[in-house]
Amino acid sequence: MRQLKSFLEGRWVSGDAPASTLTNAVTGEAIAETSTRGLDLGAALRYARTVGGPTLRAMSFAERGAALKAMGKVIHAHRDELIELAAENSGNTRGDAKFDVDGASGTLAYYGALGKRMGDAKWLLDGPSEPIGRAPRFVGQHLFVPRQGVAVHINAFNFPAWGMGEKLAVSLLAGVPALEKPATATAVVTARIVELWHEAGVLPEGSVSLLAGSAGDLLDHLDAQDVVAFTGSGDTGRMIKGHPRVLDLNIPVNVEADSLNAAILGPDVKKSSDTFAMFLNEVVRDLTQKAGQKCTAIRRILVPASSVEWVWEALVDRMGTHAMGDVNDRATTVSPLATAAQQRDILAGIAELEAAADASWTHPQELPDGKGFWVAPRLFRTDKGINAPFVHDHEVFGPVGTVVVYSGEASDAVAIVAKGGGGLVSSVYSDDRGFGGEVVLGLAPWHGRLQWGSKKVHDQGMGPGTVLPGFVHGGPGKAGGGEELGGERGLRFYWQRTAIQGDRALLEKVLGKVED
Ligand code: NAP
Repeated sequence: MRQLKSFLEGRWVSGDAPASTLTNAVTGEAIAETSTRGLDLGAALRYARTVGGPTLRAMSFAERGAALKAMGKVIHAHRDELIELAAENSGNTRGDAKFDVDGASGTLAYYGALGKRMGDAKWLLDGPSEPIGRAPRFVGQHLFVPRQGVAVHINAFNFPAWGMGEKLAVSLLAGVPALEKPATATAVVTARIVELWHEAGVLPEGSVSLLAGSAGDLLDHLDAQDVVAFTGSGDTGRMIKGHPRVLDLNIPVNVEADSLNAAILGPDVKKSSDTFAMFLNEVVRDLTQKAGQKCTAIRRILVPASSVEWVWEALVDRMGTHAMGDVNDRATTVSPLATAAQQRDILAGIAELEAAADASWTHPQELPDGKGFWVAPRLFRTDKGINAPFVHDHEVFGPVGTVVVYSGEASDAVAIVAKGGGGLVSSVYSDDRGFGGEVVLGLAPWHGRLQWGSKKVHDQGMGPGTVLPGFVHGGPGKAGGGEELGGERGLRFYWQRTAIQGDRALLEKVLGKVED
């Protein structure tokens, strides 16, 4: 059986017995073991701070960008191997595994290109200077400098490649080394990628560490210049934010958590329209891709009462075309879940939705034989709008969605979506400027990202469920209150903003030309 190792202090190390067992999501068989017990995580963080930090800070944005580009290329060169590992460990279909692996290499390439554009600088001025005294030579100037700690990146099980890639791309370009901690259950792909980078010699010394398994006492060793970026459940996010070390040292924590993302169909949209085709494609893609286990997946489907009968029929018909089966078979479009624990949680959520729903549909296919962690795709419908129980409070993290019937008024749709308490992304489908505009502006305070689908863009893009490196990912409230990516915006989490006040002539000797 494969033994996963952690990469700490520039060496591959294993923890003490007993190890955690990682399983094949399709067969339930054990495929790997890993342990982090007894590893000196304090020393690992110190190494990253004292070796990785100075190495990265001595590099320009362009040099850091070149390292990111090389890291992306290594992933791309081993794409097939990584896709096979993802099928084995996470039970991904080929398409789902590509989505994760290509997401990682694409994001690294994007930030590599951004680094090249940012050029020879190692830190940035923030805006123009401002005069302070009567004499024009006494000015204040803001600047961004990399924090001198380590970025602890804790990721969820569902994107073992992309989850690491998107956090690392941003922190390394900012000049901050990182310790990657993937979810234990699906750490095989993450560990292999770090191994490939190490073998290819593309990592700046000390810039990337890997903890392949449980976090142990990691957070007890955080220091004042460190940051934590977390993706996972709201409960774990709250625990991290409330950790005594985080509270005592005011360590910045970015949380990407649960989200009850919505898709809103406008009352103007007709069955035969391109806008409806876009809605149908995007909703069904999100319910089936990665077995609905995307943080950005549409969970609530808001449909006006006047259209609900034909929309329900179209959703059921399209969902029925998806098939479960051998994940290596291209005809399989819905995979099993990654673990038995998720299967249990999702079946419990489905039972709650079932009790609350006014109608429901279950994918008619018999579940594939074997021990895999399968859940049949489900659709629910509620006519209770904003008063529907459960659906606005709980994320059922599987191939499951609920049609929520609304009046057709934009204000009603906004109120229902906002009942979810803050989300990562929602989408509206309408060619009516008045309706779409009211929904987009009404939902903006509740989301990190919104997509407006309409006839002239119906065949563009990959849907709201695909996170793009140039746009922010995160959301307020229930979604964790965090923000990642967004091009250069994402780097700011890893920087200290400092205002420096003094004689312009002296400042310019150190900072270069400052603008008025
Ligand atoms: P989870 O159980 O919260 O685990 C997330 C990560 O936290 C894992 O690496 C886990 O490690 C780690 N962790 C658990 N306890 C910890 C502790 N005491 N100290 C430090 N780390 C700890 O979530 P999950 O089941 O992997 O993911 C599912 C959830 O993530 C869903 O609710 C989904 O909405 C959310 N999600 C959000 C996003 C987003 O971008 N907003 C993306 C993907 C998923 P172990 O595996 O070793 O326990």
